[in-house]
Amino acid sequence: MAEIRPQPGIMDIALYQGGQSHLDGVADVVKLSSNENPFGPSDKAKEAFVRSGHQLHRYPSTDHAGLRAAIGEVHGVNPDQVICGVGSDEIITFLCQAYAGPGDEVIHTEHGFSMYRISTLAAGATPIEVPERERVVDVDAILAACNFRTKLVFIANPANPTGTMIGGNELARLADGLPKQAILVLDGAYAEYVEEYDGGKALVDARENVFMTRTFSKIYGLGGLRVGWGYGPKEIVDVLNRVRGPFNLSQTQLETAEAAVRDMDYTERCRTENTRLRAWLAEALAEAGVPSDTSTANFILARFTSPDEAEACDEWLKSKGIIVRRVAGYKLPNCLRITVGDEASCRRVAHAVRAFK
Ligand code: PMP
Repeated sequence: MAEIRPQPGIMDIALYQGGQSHLDGVADVVKLSSNENPFGPSDKAKEAFVRSGHQLHRYPSTDHAGLRAAIGEVHGVNPDQVICGVGSDEIITFLCQAYAGPGDEVIHTEHGFSMYRISTLAAGATPIEVPERERVVDVDAILAACNFRTKLVFIANPANPTGTMIGGNELARLADGLPKQAILVLDGAYAEYVEEYDGGKALVDARENVFMTRTFSKIYGLGGLRVGWGYGPKEIVDVLNRVRGPFNLSQTQLETAEAAVRDMDYTERCRTENTRLRAWLAEALAEAGVPSDTSTANFILARFTSPDEAEACDEWLKSKGIIVRRVAGYKLPNCLRITVGDEASCRRVAHAVRAFK
């Protein structure tokens, strides 16, 4: 046994601590810690979920043709350049597995989403963390960190947990400045919350070194289903399909996600409601003395005066049955990330924060 050891890098991965959904002894809990859609999935997706369970003895589709076609129609992308996975987490894993190994570097930013580092270490490559400027991705700092070992650069736009975004010109400048062996990965998990934003699709279409990831876990209200997708140059999708297990998604996942993406009216309603409630919540918290950066996603990053105050407010909210996310692990110890819930949840948070302050 003494000789059995994991690959180098694996023990640098911290075990996942988030995901709390209940509070012992507290009734009527509202969970605002995982950026889930408070309205859940569309009725059409729920109907498809129930309908899909008839052929459990059959293996699912291996090519995901139905779901890729629906994504193609709704998002205006070529289905041949789409790959589907178990959440966008799995697409991130595929990218690292296929393109980064020992000796290679993978860039993420200071407050970047945790999976970039986890998947990089799991692939045996080295994560490089680049500073941000006032909680916004800094293109110049990323370009300065690139070298001949850089294989992947991950950016979430909008970013989690800051909620900030960088513009199309900045993204193009980044893509054009990368070394020739590097891929820019634009993580669009929250893209649907931004009116008129294509998640990076136009840049993928215009460049050979840009790849986009998307998810059904956020605006589609299907975090529990675990479906995500990626869109990029055919050559990259072909590589990723070689590391993808042939049956990575069940028929239930495929059919439910297909119904969800086709229900564009529901998606639009969720976007509109999020925009309205996010503005209301940000203003209510600011009036209570808790400012936040302008968020473009379905959460806000509330700023406190010190790590102690953020922790105390977190405990206070818990005592009131409200679960939010501490983001000290994202190097934001003064902050709490609060998902925009439904109207009643937003009012409850605002009331509790006011009482805390
Ligand atoms: N990217 C970002 C920026 C996220 O915030 C999340 C979920 N928290 C994901 C990717 C992964 O989402 P999923 O695996 O559920 O698609």
